[in-house]
Amino acid sequence: MAERPHDPDVNRDFAALNGWDREYESFTDFDLPTYVGPLSFMKLPWVTDPAELRRREIDVAIVGAPFDDAVTHRPGARFGPRAIREAQYTSGSINSLQLDVEPFEVLNVVDAGDANIVPAWIDRAHALIYRKVLDVASTGAIPIVLGGDHSITWPSATAVAEVRRPGSIGIVHFDAHADTAADDWGVLNGHGTPMRRLIESGAVKGRNFVQIGLRGYWPPVETFEWMREQGLRWHLMREIEERGAEAVVAQAIDEALDGPDFVYLSLDIDVIDPGMAPGTGTPEPGGMLSREVLRAIRQIVAAVDLAGMDVVEVSPPYDHAETTAMVANRAALEAISALAVRRTAGKPVRWAGRELPPGRFPAGSPEHHGHPG
Ligand code: MN
Ligand code: MN
Repeated sequence: MAERPHDPDVNRDFAALNGWDREYESFTDFDLPTYVGPLSFMKLPWVTDPAELRRREIDVAIVGAPFDDAVTHRPGARFGPRAIREAQYTSGSINSLQLDVEPFEVLNVVDAGDANIVPAWIDRAHALIYRKVLDVASTGAIPIVLGGDHSITWPSATAVAEVRRPGSIGIVHFDAHADTAADDWGVLNGHGTPMRRLIESGAVKGRNFVQIGLRGYWPPVETFEWMREQGLRWHLMREIEERGAEAVVAQAIDEALDGPDFVYLSLDIDVIDPGMAPGTGTPEPGGMLSREVLRAIRQIVAAVDLAGMDVVEVSPPYDHAETTAMVANRAALEAISALAVRRTAGKPVRWAGRELPPGRFPAGSPEHHGHPG
């Protein structure tokens, strides 16, 4: 090896010379600023193994569903989970001012990672989102699923209903759109159809379905006729304008609990006005305020036994200034904080879970044959 050339005049201790040899405190990844270190939701531990989720008695597990091949208009929601995970500047053990609780001191919350998604294969993505949420929900943890386009609610809510009890969950669905179309141009699993598939399959009963924030010019009259036949209940944006969000949400809670024991909350971020949440696939002017939606989540989670939740349709390429990802991040945080308040009040949060029959799905070994197109 060649000798490293140096000038004897500058053979110095640069660390000492520049003051870089003093003692500095170092921090864990959890406590470091959010933009430093590996990415997980709120820098929480990344725990993907269901056995470990069960062993640690995890209360809430974040799940990513980075999938947008089922959109009908603007794409980009596949980048949603990553953007939502990082749209927060406060690290470490946070403090909810609105609910006066430190949620991560009260609850065991982790990031359970993403469903095993590959692009351009809707059926496979839905199958693997279903299996991932099934795995997580069966441990007793409450899954909070970050989409992804809204088609992911079909497999996600199905999994939650299946582990709890099919037909037993109520769904509170915030959206500018009903997502109850029979099909999108003949496609049965697009993001305009998941609520129809959930009801048709029997995972959720139509009369246990409540929608909030519908507006604009879709779906057509026939779709509303089908919804009426199924016993769905919905609250147009007009009703929020006339009666206020608080009263409408209170009624929706009563309706969602009319029969069901548990509630699955599905938040399409486009329920919020595109002026506040522009980063989404099918923006619809005239929507709810961010603060109304965050308050509604606190109101709902305080009042019901939450079995699962998703936050969908965040499309980072259209999200200048990250305002949409931020409100999605806070939506998940508000639910977690409201669950922490329930725990401190002695109410149930996680549940006992349920053992799944082993070997139900062929595992398939990891392979490496994809490449950029
Ligand atoms: Mn939707
Ligand atoms: Mn929508």
